[in-house]
Amino acid sequence: MNTKALERQLKLKSGVSVKGKIKFFSREKGFGFVVADNGTEHFLGVREVVGADLPNNGDLVEFESRNGKKGPYAAKLKIIKSSENSERRDDRVVCPSCQKKVFPKLIHDRGAFGDPKPRKSLCPLCGATVKDFSGCFIATSVYGDFDAPEVLFYRHYRDNVLKTNFLGRVLIKLYYQVSPSIVVLLEKSPRISHMVKKQLDKAVRKESF
Ligand SMILES: [Zn+2]
Repeated sequence: MNTKALERQLKLKSGVSVKGKIKFFSREKGFGFVVADNGTEHFLGVREVVGADLPNNGDLVEFESRNGKKGPYAAKLKIIKSSENSERRDDRVVCPSCQKKVFPKLIHDRGAFGDPKPRKSLCPLCGATVKDFSGCFIATSVYGDFDAPEVLFYRHYRDNVLKTNFLGRVLIKLYYQVSPSIVVLLEKSPRISHMVKKQLDKAVRKESF
């Protein structure tokens, strides 16, 4: 075997670095396809994406072109340039387990009054728990502590005041549907978080005196 053939063999094994464009990528399913500049379509599994960001359709990327049993696949894929139309809001969170940015799946329990109570959120890619919810989402998120007096107050308010009347039960229902997304927002915006905290402080003072 001459050196050129040997080089070629080594290259095939380690993969050749190429550029391409994301044709389609499903966050829910965790795979997609990327077309290399030479037109070859490659399978792309989520595990081959380097970094926290998952690709969007149309992103320009760089990856190792490898040959698997089922044809070409992309390995060690890096996003070079996000597609122009990716102005979508990024309210994903980083999974503590696989480090990917994901939209966590909420797991609900039935509360005492039949209201759906989110128990925890799971990473759709690796199944790890992203967040464990207990107590009040908003108050906990703003105060950053499950046992802060204000959080205890809100928990008490929820269980003893709100649950005893019809309007309160409706409020709780709304609250559980809305607050997980609010919490994500709060965690991203310390300024808004501060504003909410001020309002909660006011309410606590009003109720306790
Ligand atoms: Zn994960």
